[in-house]
Amino acid sequence: MNIHEYQAKELLKSYNIPVPKGEVITKIEDAEKAAWKIESNIAVVKAQIHAGGRGKAGGVKIAKSIDEIRDFSEELLGKNLVTHQTGPQGKEIKTLLIEEGCNIEKEYYLAITLDRETSRVTMIASEEGGTDIEEVAAKSPEKIFKEVIDPVVGLAEFQARRLCFNINIPSNVISDTVKIMMNLYKCFMEKDCTLTEINPLVVTAEEKVIALDAKLNFDENSLYRNKDILEYRDLDEEDEKEVEASEHGLSYISLDGNIGCMVNGAGLAMATMDIIKYYGGEPANFLDVGGGASEEKVTNAFKIILSDDRVKGIFVNIFGGIMKCDVIASGIVKAAKEVNLRVPLVVRLEGTNVSLGKEILDSSDINIVTAKSMDEGAKKVVELIK
Ligand code: ADP
Ligand code: MG
Repeated sequence: MNIHEYQAKELLKSYNIPVPKGEVITKIEDAEKAAWKIESNIAVVKAQIHAGGRGKAGGVKIAKSIDEIRDFSEELLGKNLVTHQTGPQGKEIKTLLIEEGCNIEKEYYLAITLDRETSRVTMIASEEGGTDIEEVAAKSPEKIFKEVIDPVVGLAEFQARRLCFNINIPSNVISDTVKIMMNLYKCFMEKDCTLTEINPLVVTAEEKVIALDAKLNFDENSLYRNKDILEYRDLDEEDEKEVEASEHGLSYISLDGNIGCMVNGAGLAMATMDIIKYYGGEPANFLDVGGGASEEKVTNAFKIILSDDRVKGIFVNIFGGIMKCDVIASGIVKAAKEVNLRVPLVVRLEGTNVSLGKEILDSSDINIVTAKSMDEGAKKVVELIK
């Protein structure tokens, strides 16, 4: 789960990581009041959307007067911001962070994430922080330093200091930076983050170290024990269908293709997407209905797939283990009737109660193409939508 910059900064602040003073607004009328509250000659007006690259896209504006703060707020609020992370459709700016301008001496990059190659939490830092970090990673990877963290010992202070030396943190602020690194690690672990990124982490002319931007991602599976983080969830920023699916306990991720997939089990769902692509099709979604899905769950899954106008065909690929094929079959028949099925439907069922499931499908008056194998099903659905 992703959260906004202002929320991430609130959390970092609770871990004693310095952040600029800031005010959040959602209405233009509040801009002036916010400007007075932060008591700074220079203020920065920042678009709050769940995507990075805002600076380069015009979503971060430096204002030198109250009038400018108002003007920039007016310009940004309600606008659709397209950055290299939003996709071409962009994201509507509904919230602004107005914060104290900061006297930047140098911008650094600092992050913690899980390195799947070493299976270790890893701290990453660079002296080339700021809006071009992707380019640094591509063109001068030697400027990016990593510390692999031992899960038993945790981040050791000497590792944090070594990173500071490697990225040339000025010696008089090394101890402050080490504290920030240690606290960031604490936050990462305690809040079950999958990413904590401060870009830029800046050293100011006044010799202060401050987190000027913050991006935090959380493991959704742990939200049950991080209720405070769940409060930060902004449904406006999420895909409508994904939100609906999560309410029904379905794992659904919407994609750009036109073949809707309904599958049980994440592994089979991935394999199904692969085989569709192998035959030249493009999956419209990843959907795992889970191991013990009920008829109702299947119906809901079907409705979510069909609510996507781009879907030109559906491939149901179920292996009945705990999940019984007859349950799936009656779910499909029920849903197809309710939603007035308008696209070709290919079904491959295998496993527990498979003959019962096939009987249900055959005796219904819905136009269903059955397939004996996953391979045949994928081939058929790709052909049918052509
Ligand atoms: P993004 O990463 O989405 O582009 P950032 O918050 O990192 O957005 O802002 C982009 C750049 O704007 C920063 O690298 C920094 O140079 C500048 N900036 C951001 N916030 C401030 C601030 N409070 N004071 C001064 N400069 C800022
Ligand atoms: Mg940034």
